[in-house]
Amino acid sequence: MTATAIKNAQEHQWHNLPEDKIGHILATDREKGLEEVEIPQRLREYGLNELTAKEGKPVWLKFILQFNQPLLIILVCAGAIKALLGEWINASVIWGVTTTNAIISFTQESQAESAIAALASAIRTEATVIRGGKKLKVPSQELVPGDLVLLTSGDKVPADLRLIKTRDLQIDESGLTGESVAVEKDAEEATLPPETPLAERLNMAYAGGFVTFGQGSGIVVATGNKTETGKISQLIEQRVDLTTPLTRKFNQFSQNWLYFVLLAATLTFAIGLGRYTFQDAVEPAIALIVGAIPEGLPAVITVTLAVGVARMAKRNAIVRKLPAVETLGGATVVCSDKTGTLTENQMTVQEIYAGGETYNVTGGGYNLEGEIQHKQTPINAKDLPVLAELLLAGVLCNDSHLEQKNGNWVVIGDPTEGALITVANKAGLIQQAAERMNPRFDSIPFESQFQYMATLHQTRHAKVIYVKGSAEAILKRCSAAFNKDGKITTLDVEAINQRVDQMAKQGLRVLAFAKKKVAESQDKVDHSDIESGLAFIGLQAMIDPPRPEAIAAVHACQAAGIQVKMITGDHITTAQAIARRMGFRNQNKKVVAYTGAQLAKMTPNKLANAVEEGVVFARVAPEQKLRIVEALQSKGEIVAMTGDGVNDAPALKQADIGIAMGSGTEVSKEAADMLLTDDNFASIAAAVEEGRSVYKNLIKAICFILPVNGGESMTILISTLLGRDLPILSLQILWLNMLNSITMTVPLSFEPKSSGLMKQPPRPVNEPFLTPNRIKRILAISLYNWTLIFGMFEFVRQAPWGSTELARTMAIQALVMGRIFYLMSISQLMPSLIAKFQGSQEKVSGAPALAGGIIVAVILQIIFANSQFINNIFQTAPMTLDQWIICFLASLPMMAIAASVNRFDPPN
Ligand code: ADP
Ligand code: MG
Repeated sequence: MTATAIKNAQEHQWHNLPEDKIGHILATDREKGLEEVEIPQRLREYGLNELTAKEGKPVWLKFILQFNQPLLIILVCAGAIKALLGEWINASVIWGVTTTNAIISFTQESQAESAIAALASAIRTEATVIRGGKKLKVPSQELVPGDLVLLTSGDKVPADLRLIKTRDLQIDESGLTGESVAVEKDAEEATLPPETPLAERLNMAYAGGFVTFGQGSGIVVATGNKTETGKISQLIEQRVDLTTPLTRKFNQFSQNWLYFVLLAATLTFAIGLGRYTFQDAVEPAIALIVGAIPEGLPAVITVTLAVGVARMAKRNAIVRKLPAVETLGGATVVCSDKTGTLTENQMTVQEIYAGGETYNVTGGGYNLEGEIQHKQTPINAKDLPVLAELLLAGVLCNDSHLEQKNGNWVVIGDPTEGALITVANKAGLIQQAAERMNPRFDSIPFESQFQYMATLHQTRHAKVIYVKGSAEAILKRCSAAFNKDGKITTLDVEAINQRVDQMAKQGLRVLAFAKKKVAESQDKVDHSDIESGLAFIGLQAMIDPPRPEAIAAVHACQAAGIQVKMITGDHITTAQAIARRMGFRNQNKKVVAYTGAQLAKMTPNKLANAVEEGVVFARVAPEQKLRIVEALQSKGEIVAMTGDGVNDAPALKQADIGIAMGSGTEVSKEAADMLLTDDNFASIAAAVEEGRSVYKNLIKAICFILPVNGGESMTILISTLLGRDLPILSLQILWLNMLNSITMTVPLSFEPKSSGLMKQPPRPVNEPFLTPNRIKRILAISLYNWTLIFGMFEFVRQAPWGSTELARTMAIQALVMGRIFYLMSISQLMPSLIAKFQGSQEKVSGAPALAGGIIVAVILQIIFANSQFINNIFQTAPMTLDQWIICFLASLPMMAIAASVNRFDPPN
């Protein structure tokens, strides 16, 4: 196409044009799609199918906005007061430090934001297209106008499409139209009036919509920014939210703290006015404000969260919403899908039941080696009509196929269906050949909520519908059965159910098969066609082994006081057998199981007790997952729930942590807080562990920083009340709270996980971040910090060799040394070193970060005292070796104090 043709094409009213016209304008084939060779050319002309987000606020504005925090505004004002008093050095240092603070938190924040945004965009969406007559999966970005796209429930509409085929297709376009219910689309609408509003264009599907039901196909008419969504979303700024429950609680706390500090500062000022000049009364008030506010803390919190997100990503858990990092650590219940998450999703048919006989199948995986045996002797399926029919039903009523990759057979599609192809292969029945001889006319694809799938074929003798699904779903539709010779006989439901039960008890997944003859004229199959009158062919039972690492993870979660529950569409007995094998159990060490039907009948009260007590929930419809989550939450649980299907979205949203599968539908990914790239339950346990570790580290940072603020504020209040000289000046406080705090606290964000993390129960729901024990800890350490500052200051000033400057310098050095001991007492370093000496094999990680932080802090302190330049600015004095030793000795008792605090408030 020429550039002008393209330009015209973009201005078409697509909903107003008939299909053939569209195919013509976009030069595409409505059956075979575009030819592969055309794609690069079109990609060059139209660009990638992605939205270019609107530029956020300019960097300088974002930076200025950093100052829009009460704490920083107060600091800027404090600097202004100093400037008005003519204390220019003071003023510029206050401003300088405030700006440095803003720069640090600004860069930390932007780094964290872009890291999280990058993770989110690394989640690739794929679209199913037909190109050159072949069905392919391509990254959504590579779609071009003219592409023929297939839609199925759970998909995200990848571009604007003119629909050409629909089958009960329902699309949720609420993001675009605001319409909250899904719209039933209809490709039969050949043309709609040009003025039809977006929400009513039934022959169109718009990018960003979600297919909630049915199937369809359509031709791409617009991509990227040219789509309807693109036109609006350019107006919306993309932003990552960096708040979590803890940061919100902390901000609330800071707010209240601020009022208190302002009050105390006013008081200090009033007291000072009674004694000194105005100028001298200002300093303690400012010192108090500066000392009471933990300036360095916000930056540390952001870094800690970002480190957590990165660690989780390394363990295959991608955080989509930041609060999940923290909430995960508090999870009390994890509800997991069975198939694929707890199990390998590597299905192999092991038992077959047909015509009243049971057969065994040898071999494993999708490997074609193996044979069908009857009472230990190999048989030829071709000699047994009913067995041959069963295997044929398995490959025909099937939407998947096998492909050879690097010498191994892999399933393209559903593993359950792959197993059926494999077993047929073992008997010499090849899927492609069967499909050629029995062409398919129509199908109802498998959906969890119906538990069956059906296909309509022209066989050699007649038009036939094959149905496969759960034993319950199939048996209730059957009125007859095939005997060994393939002749119709009566249906013995009892006998079949007994077989199903025996298979399920071994943990096998059971599929039932049936068949129905229909009129030659029929070329569509509908749910109503298979309501009744089917003839039962047989059962195929497959093994899906548990993932070994998931077994370990289930145990780890249970040891960590987290209940693990299995939610599945599978048979109750199968699910229970797998659960037993994996070590699932409730608090009474039982494997209690319920079916969805049982749950549906319960009153809310009974349900709440049942979900608490049960560990297996089988034949659960996706809608019921929402009820299970709500019931657990009504019991005060913090619930993590997995999901991959279209109908899982409400439950994922309702759960405290919604977890989607990398292989799941786009709808579920969009609704989730976290995504597992490997679909593996073990990654959930890993993420919980990381979540706990992040929370611990955040609390450690808070418990580390606040006592210094406590010590400083006490010092100023008490010295002012006693009418003594200030042991520490506002500038010096800023040095401590900013430079010293950040160098020493950032290593805490990189603390390794303590080995005990998964041996403790989850933290209590709604636990305030300052528990009574933590408040006691902070007060105790604050008190000792005060003793260090006040005591050292008074001691040195009265010593014959002392001076006010030296006294202040030494007071600060003693404080920092005490701080180093305190840091070591709460870090992982000590326990892991001790464990190392006791012969633990674990690596002592995190030590370099901690040691680095301490070394930098010490160097800064040496400069603080012994650099002439700093002496002038910060009003400090050089120290001799003896004086350093005095400070060191004074700080030693911190070890004992920290150790005793650790007793009632263990940090790890
Ligand atoms: P889960 O994934 O939790 O194991 P599903 O909802 O996928 O459960 O499956 C429920 C039941 O539906 C299975 O026990 C099986 O009998 C049947 N089933 C599963 N996959 C298919 C399929 N592709 N076609 C027909 N029936 C199926
Ligand atoms: Mg499934």
